[in-house]
Amino acid sequence: MGLKTFEEIDLEGKKVIARFDFNVPIRNGEILDSTRIDFALPTIKALLEKNISKLIMMSHLGRPDGQIKPELSLEPIATYLAEKLGTEVYLSESATDSGIKTLLNLGHIKIVLLENLRFHSEETSGDNEFAQTLAQYADIYINDAFGVSHRKHSSVYQITEYFRPNQRFAGLLLQKEILALEKVMNKPEKPFICVLGGAKVKDKIKTIEKLLVKADNLLIGGAMAYPFLKAKGFKVGNSLCSHKDVELAKTILQRDKGKKIILPIDHIIAKEPNAEAETLDNIQIQDGFSGFDIGPKTIDKYSEILKSGKTIFWNGPMGLFENKNFANGTNSIAKIISETNSFSVVGGGDSVNAINKSGFSDQISHVSTGGGASLEYIEEGSLPAVQILKYTH
Ligand code: AMP
Repeated sequence: MGLKTFEEIDLEGKKVIARFDFNVPIRNGEILDSTRIDFALPTIKALLEKNISKLIMMSHLGRPDGQIKPELSLEPIATYLAEKLGTEVYLSESATDSGIKTLLNLGHIKIVLLENLRFHSEETSGDNEFAQTLAQYADIYINDAFGVSHRKHSSVYQITEYFRPNQRFAGLLLQKEILALEKVMNKPEKPFICVLGGAKVKDKIKTIEKLLVKADNLLIGGAMAYPFLKAKGFKVGNSLCSHKDVELAKTILQRDKGKKIILPIDHIIAKEPNAEAETLDNIQIQDGFSGFDIGPKTIDKYSEILKSGKTIFWNGPMGLFENKNFANGTNSIAKIISETNSFSVVGGGDSVNAINKSGFSDQISHVSTGGGASLEYIEEGSLPAVQILKYTH
């Protein structure tokens, strides 16, 4: 059964509560990257066009761990949304504020944003009472928060119990995210090429195992490459490389009968992140040096393979890209993928950042708002909060 969105549903006069993922980077009250909010706008606008009586929006921001942390208030988001929508957005004092119900009975108030859900520890613990409190604000529930749909949190999971199947729907972004991943995992046009980077093999082992079955090639970059290189007997110097990850990499390489895993053949190295960076035209890294990015030959090799791809999935940076000396690998991969004619899906905050910075994000078929969620979808073939939304009872 597919995901049901609210598009065909008559919502006139209804109170709608919608969970979004407005978890954006904010510094000193300034939103540094508004992608996640911007991607939620089509759902918000479509709901408003349906003449609903109230829109109650909810989201988390950061990890306040059940504490009220003023720097994690949704205030900058309320201001941004008000600007984008050209209408007032009321920020509640808290998600369970006793004044919310009164606010919702005031005729002139149309849009309310609940304060950070994670100021309540009940959100992440999946508390039923908290979910019920949220549910009582509205007649209709919408989940458009793909980025947290791999979690069994109150506002995406338990809350669905308080709405009948004809009262709970997917938002447009959630639908788009799931359709893109379904296309990648269920019927990828071949060749299907995956690029995986980031720091730890441990975090991505299940993803790698799944992709080894589905993909034609897995191009590995970032610190994740070193356990694989070490497992193959190459020297990795002082590069980030835990013993456990080397053991995992050995197991994966043994399973890779089709030799689908492709590893870097040169590196950008340095004695430490702030020391002078140099190109190492060799696989082997001597002691005293660490690999912090993939080298130019690796970029060329990966580029050739990517150009042949009809479906491409990318998650995780190719190096310590936060330091500009080691950002070239990640930026180059972003550019190369955007220039292919493939169906391309990019997930994970760092890769999406690189894509946005490259200025080619509109040439990517789907830029995912959820790194963890997209990996879990690949691993499990579904997400808990998406499954329960479809569940009929
Ligand atoms: P992950 O959360 O597993 O996707 O890892 C992302 C982090 O890995 C980023 O902060 C990168 O800077 C870091 N990273 C990627 N490649 C390297 C590397 N070669 N050495 C050190 N850190 C790296």
